[in-house]
Amino acid sequence: MKQIYLKRGKEESLLRFHPWIFSGAIHHTDEHLEEGETVRVVTGNGDFIAIGHYQEGSIAVRVLTFSDVPIDDQFWQSRLRSALQMRQSIGIADNERNNTYRLVHGEGDNLPGLIIDIYGETAVMQAHSIGMHLCRHEVAKALVAVMDKRIANIYYKSETTLPYMEPENGFIYGGSDDNIAVENGLKFYVDWLRGQKTGFFVDQRENRSLLERYAKGQRVLNMFCYTGGFSVYAMRGDALLVHSVDSSAKAIELTRANVELNFPDDPRHKAFCEDAFKFLDSLDSSTINSQLKYDLIILDPPAFAKHRGALHNALKGYTRLNQKAFEKIQPGGILFTFSCSQVVTKEHFRNAVFTAAALAKRKVRILHQLHQPADHPVNIYHPEGEYLKGLVLYVE
Ligand code: SAH
Repeated sequence: MKQIYLKRGKEESLLRFHPWIFSGAIHHTDEHLEEGETVRVVTGNGDFIAIGHYQEGSIAVRVLTFSDVPIDDQFWQSRLRSALQMRQSIGIADNERNNTYRLVHGEGDNLPGLIIDIYGETAVMQAHSIGMHLCRHEVAKALVAVMDKRIANIYYKSETTLPYMEPENGFIYGGSDDNIAVENGLKFYVDWLRGQKTGFFVDQRENRSLLERYAKGQRVLNMFCYTGGFSVYAMRGDALLVHSVDSSAKAIELTRANVELNFPDDPRHKAFCEDAFKFLDSLDSSTINSQLKYDLIILDPPAFAKHRGALHNALKGYTRLNQKAFEKIQPGGILFTFSCSQVVTKEHFRNAVFTAAALAKRKVRILHQLHQPADHPVNIYHPEGEYLKGLVLYVE
C-alpha cells in the first residue's frame, strides 16, 4: 500500500479521530497515487496513523480506519454489521411497520463517502468519493452477507455524486421493479432511477411523525413536497385538507401517486405545480387562491447553500421564505420549518427565522427543535456530519 507522509504536528486532529486529511497537512506522498486509491497515512517519522481513500482536492484522504488492518471483506463486513446492529438496537431495522431506513451514513458510520438506504428488499447505495466508487463491488458483496436475506437487490446510484465521473445508475445485485417502501405503516413509491438523493428523503421520518400528531382538523400546506411525505402523514393525522406544492412536475406526479396509494380518491388533497415563493405571494392576490388559509405550514426547501461561499445569500433566502409563511399563516397556526444545508448552523438558521418573524411582526414561540434522525448519526469527532435542522413554531 502506498504511503502519505504528514507534515510535522499535522497528525493531531487524526489522533482525535477526525476522519479527513486536508491536502495542506501532507508533506509528501509516494509516487503516482491514483484517484481513489487506498493509502496508508504516516507521520514524518513513519509512525502509522490511518488508512483511507485518497482523492485530489482539499479533502485529500477520507479515513477508513485508525488501525493498521487490511481493507478486505472482513473489514467491510465488520463496518456494515456494526451499522446494522446499531439500527437493530434502536428498533429501526427489522421493524414490521417500517422497512425504510438509512443503514450507512458516511462518516457517521465510519464509512466516509458511502451512503446506503434500505427500502424493503432493495438497498440503494451511493458513493460520494472515488475510493468508495472503486470499492462498490466489495461493499456490495459484504452487504449481501451482512444483511442475510433481508435484501434481494442493490441499486447503485452515483451518477451525480462524484467528481469527474458519471457512472451509470443501475442494479449491481439482483434487480426488481417493486419500488414501494413502507415508512411507519405508510406506503411510498421510491424513484431510484431519477429521484433525488437515493430516491426518498429518509431523514424526515421522525419529523413527519411529529407533524401527524398536530394535523388533526388543520388546513395543511406542504411546501417543497417532493414525494409528498409530509402530506401523507398529515392525511393520516386527520387533517381537514392538505395542499402540496412543488415547482417540479415530476414531484407533483409522485406526490399525487403516493397520496392515491394510501388514501385513494380522498378529496382532501390537492397538489400544485408552482414556485413556493409565488404560491405564498398568491395567497391573497389571486382569485383562485384568495380563499385558501392554512393553519399548519411545512417549509422543507432544498439546501439553499451547498458551500460556504453561498451562506450569506442562503440565510437571506431562508428569511424571505419564512417571512412569507409567517405573513400568511392563520393565528394559532403551527409552522414546521427546515434547513438541510450543512454549512448553515442551528444558530444561523434560528437567527434567519427570528428575523423573518420580526419582519412579519408575529408573536412566535419555539415548540420543538428538530434534527436528523438516529439512523443518520453524527460521528462525535466529525461535527460536520450534522446537517438537518428544523423548528416547530407556534404563531399567534
Ligand atoms: N419535503 C420533502 C423533501 C423536499 S426536497 C420530503 O419530505 O421528502 C426539495 C423539493 O423542493 C424538491 O422536490 C424540489 O423540486 C423543490 N423545489 C426546489 N425549488 C423550489 C421552488 N422554488 N418552489 C417550489 N419547490 C421547489
